[in-house]
Parts: sequence; C-alpha cells; structure tokens
Amino acid sequence: MDTTFPCPACNGESWLPVGTHYYWRAEHQANGNWYRDQYVRLRRRVLFEIWFPDADVVILSSRRCATCGLACYCPRPDSFDLEAKYRFLMEAKGVGTRDAAVEQDAARAAWVYETICAVQTNPFRVLDVGGGNGRLMLPFLARGAECYLVDYATWTHQGVQRLGSTLADVPQAMSFDVAICSHVLEHVAYPRRLLEEVHRILCDDGIVYVEVPLEEFRNNAWNPILAEPVTHISFFTAVTLRHLLLAVGYQTNLLEECVGTYEGQPLPVIRAVATKSNWLADPVNI
Ligand SMILES: [Zn+2]
Repeated sequence: MDTTFPCPACNGESWLPVGTHYYWRAEHQANGNWYRDQYVRLRRRVLFEIWFPDADVVILSSRRCATCGLACYCPRPDSFDLEAKYRFLMEAKGVGTRDAAVEQDAARAAWVYETICAVQTNPFRVLDVGGGNGRLMLPFLARGAECYLVDYATWTHQGVQRLGSTLADVPQAMSFDVAICSHVLEHVAYPRRLLEEVHRILCDDGIVYVEVPLEEFRNNAWNPILAEPVTHISFFTAVTLRHLLLAVGYQTNLLEECVGTYEGQPLPVIRAVATKSNWLADPVNI
C-alpha cells in the first residue's frame, strides 16, 4: 500500500480531503450487512484477507487532486496489491468478472467501434488493453482488422490474439493503429503510466479510446466506495481525463460525458478519443 503518492493522473502534489471511510471485518461475515451480497462479500474478502489481513477495521481517507479533480483514497493499493487482488478473484470465480452479463456487451462493442471509426476510418491493427475475452473487438474482427489484447483473463474469442497479461508482454516490434482502454484506468495503480505505455506502442497518428465510469465522489455519504473500495481505486472527471491525455502526449478528438452501457446495463461514463502526438502540454495551461 502507498501512503505517500502524487496524483496518479497529473502527478500533482496538492490534495483536498474528502472523507473518512470505515470497513469492519464482521460486516461481510455471517449475519453481517454484506454477507448476502456475493459480489461485495468477495471484494471485502480481498480487503481483509489480501490487503489488510491483520485488521478488524480498515480506515481509508479519501482525497481529491486540487489540480485535475481525480478522487482516490489513502492508503492506496500499489501494483503488487492489485495483482494479488486479481489472482484472488480469478481463483475464487474463474476470470473475475460477472460472466453471465459480459456477452450482453454487443451493443457497447458496436458503439465503441462507431466512435473510433469516426476518427480513424480504417483501423487495421487494434489492441484492447485489459479487454477481458476480447468482446469489444468483434466488430473490428468482422471487418477484417487484426485484433490483439492483453489481459489476465486467458480465454479469448476466436480470431482475437492474446499477447499476454499486460502491456509489458507486447513484442517490441509491434505497433497499433488503435488502442482501447475501456473500463481499465479506474482499476490500475498508475493510470498515467498505462497511457504512457500505450503511447509508446501506437503508430504515429494512432488513436486511443478511453472510457471510464462517471462516479461522483462527494463525501462520506455520497461516494462509490460505500459497499467496498476494491473494484475501483481511482475516480475520474472529464477534466481529469483531459489532463491525463494532454500531459502524456495525446490530442483529444472527442471528450464527453454520456450514458453508455456496461454488461448490458446503462452506465454514466466519460469517454475520449485522442490521437498520439509528440506535443506535451504544459500542465499549467491545461
Ligand atoms: Zn491530479
């Protein structure tokens, strides 16, 4: 766990306090409030069996970046904590996702495809970063694109080639016209570093599609970590995403808040399409 860290989106050092959040071990055990909710119970088991194995109560302080508006909590899981989380979830239930629902994502796949093609009319080589089983790639595949993904999940749709678990597994010589980071940045320890790695493996003028949930993190009573703080660890605004993309060297073609879908359910999201450039924004002027 990190207790001292800069903003994982903009590297800013100035934080505003938001709230203090208490989680008791007894709450997900028999007769506890969260015992009957299997999804929450499994995440709370990560909190108490993997991240804080000696604690009966976990206390997290949430904060907001004064520069870009990203909200997160402290102590913050690092990449080792998150790897341990995914190993635990995969062992507990296979691939760590709500499997029955994920195949309902055809409408989302079509929506992502159309949004990307409005900017990059003929994507040939496409990489989905954290793409699960590759379901978002199916419209690209149907139109003859080469489709690749990196994810901890090991089963992929036929025709989608899995290159490994993370971007570190992508062969050095490979580059891509399009990279998709859909519902990924809110899960990772270092979202800025992830977008920097994506920048490196894109062709010149390649584009990245980024989508994150729009979750309001206001205070102790109104926030997305009431039930459990394990699923998402960073909470973005449109301003955060704009900062992040510009600072890493992308120019944004599209940035919008809208209602998308996820696993068949409506979900407010922030999404962006941005083109790789070699121009780095001055953070002061973003
Ligand atoms: Zn920030």
